[in-house]
Amino acid sequence: MSLNFKTFLKKIDNYLLPSRCLICHQVNSLLCPACRVKIKYLAPHCPLCGRKSKLGFICSNCQPKASNLYFEAVFALGKYEQNNLKIALQALKQRGLRPLGLIIGRLLGRRLVKEWHQYTLQNNPSEEVIIMPIPLHKKCLRTRGFNQAQLLAQGIAEICPWPLNYNLKRLSYQKPSAPLSYSTERRQKKIFFYQGSDNLAATIIILVDDVFTTGATANAAAQALKQAGAKKIIVAVAAKSL
Ligand SMILES: [Zn+2]
Ligand SMILES: [Zn+2]
Repeated sequence: MSLNFKTFLKKIDNYLLPSRCLICHQVNSLLCPACRVKIKYLAPHCPLCGRKSKLGFICSNCQPKASNLYFEAVFALGKYEQNNLKIALQALKQRGLRPLGLIIGRLLGRRLVKEWHQYTLQNNPSEEVIIMPIPLHKKCLRTRGFNQAQLLAQGIAEICPWPLNYNLKRLSYQKPSAPLSYSTERRQKKIFFYQGSDNLAATIIILVDDVFTTGATANAAAQALKQAGAKKIIVAVAAKSL
């Protein structure tokens, strides 16, 4: 079966299916309010040592080990290993149930804005903030028909007072190599680039993806943004694999 035909069937399937909750199977919404509240939030922590930290910033102890990382923090809604969240994210990606991207994005946005408020109370940043989804390669976008990170970013933007920015572009289909398992930086092919002409020197970027596993993709995207002058990058994901 050709990929385009598969995408077509997936689209038809989505129109025909009633909105049944993926978890409790009640006809209501793809993820009903009762099942949404059962998603256990992950307390923000340093992505390197796991110690509690505001918004998931890399803690001061781990800073010396983070020279090959281009993002400052990783903020996640929940653990990937958590059933409800994993089922929802897999259904979004594999079955193409796009409204799930917005539902989960709004949950992430609510959580993020609450933690952000506590962070700004202490740090009082005057920086501009933008929300930016990690792009898919056009070949992958053609096959899947949508970018799950973009849907999540749109959900976040419905809740948070920051604009969306789609100027990060993907050049390569290749997967970047994992940054967290190597102490020295390895040369790798340029995978992302920032297309915008705006000055990012005072900008905090909320870089959005669905799952954070090795951090390789987020780091490669963050590297391109840092090269474009971005001040700080906070990776915001629906789920973090622990
Ligand atoms: Zn339910
Ligand atoms: Zn740490």
